[in-house]
Amino acid sequence: MGKIVQLDESLSNKIAAGEVVERPASVVKELLENAIDANSTIIEIEIEEAGLSQIRIIDNGDGIMADDVKRAFQRHATSKIKDEHDLFRIRTLGFRGEALPSIASVSIFELKTSTGDGPGTRILLEGGTIKEYDASSSRKGTDISVSGLFYNTPARLKYMKTIHTELGNISDIVNRLALSHPEVSFRLTHNEKKLLHTNGNGDVRQVLSAIYGINIARKMIPINGETLDFKLSGYLALPEITRASRNYISTMINGRFIKNYALAKAITEGYHTLLPIGRFPVVLLSIEMDPILVDVNVHPSKMEVRLSKEQELGALITQTIKEAFQERVLIPAGFAPV
Ligand code: ADP
Ligand code: MG
Repeated sequence: MGKIVQLDESLSNKIAAGEVVERPASVVKELLENAIDANSTIIEIEIEEAGLSQIRIIDNGDGIMADDVKRAFQRHATSKIKDEHDLFRIRTLGFRGEALPSIASVSIFELKTSTGDGPGTRILLEGGTIKEYDASSSRKGTDISVSGLFYNTPARLKYMKTIHTELGNISDIVNRLALSHPEVSFRLTHNEKKLLHTNGNGDVRQVLSAIYGINIARKMIPINGETLDFKLSGYLALPEITRASRNYISTMINGRFIKNYALAKAITEGYHTLLPIGRFPVVLLSIEMDPILVDVNVHPSKMEVRLSKEQELGALITQTIKEAFQERVLIPAGFAPV
């Protein structure tokens, strides 16, 4: 008899969780992406003890139909893509159908959801096993509470850093999602203390101001650039505002926050000699392009991408930023757009 066995779903979910759910901030990221994909306009994020005690996310989005609720916790079950054709034209933040089963397999997961017509559904899972399933309120939207994160994976729990570090990671994710979705109101609290509130009126400068403070937001200038393949827009802090790390450079492609060294480098090159050595700017850059040119299916966290025309895009970014500062020098002080 052979030695190879097919692992059961519960075990394969825990293995997937190792990649998808690295830390509390990854849970926040996946759940917020789902809320955004569901067309929410207001999202509340309540965190207790940096997410190790509780992560609660309440949205006013489309909700999940009763028939779909159990299926949403099966691996590779998604409403966002259907076939290969869709995989190469992804417009949503999610598409892998892995987040809910992975997170639920390493926590106590309660979800209440309603599409707004008729009663809603409530489901409670422990370590991925359904413990309770009943009706809930018909308020449209989804209310998720994740507690006891990593209770059944002690090694991962031990790996958690301080409350301060984990909370910093959560804040960072919420900030970036708020920057990429100014049309959504985000309200983040930690142990009931308010950390971020964006008003969701679509004004990026309001979000910049909520995150970086009004003084920095005021010193950020808008940029725009376009070629056949790419459309750029964003805000650049004046070179007098610098930071010791690249963390204040936020890059989005088609509404998805991404990490890409080549693009971050293209941004700092745009500032050229305006920045002191070892200092980095505060930048928000949003890039729109045909999804066929972006491969987001690189890593389960969907933060890394492969770009077909990375060099051309880098050159456009550097050029657009250089021109923005050249134009600024030509405009007499006092008339400069602030
Ligand atoms: P994916 O986002 O890749 O589709 P997930 O495991 O994150 O996979 O979610 C599974 C499915 O559950 C989604 O495709 C969506 O249909 C549904 N879903 C999850 N969260 C929400 C939410 N907040 N609002 C509405 N539907 C949701
Ligand atoms: Mg998802």
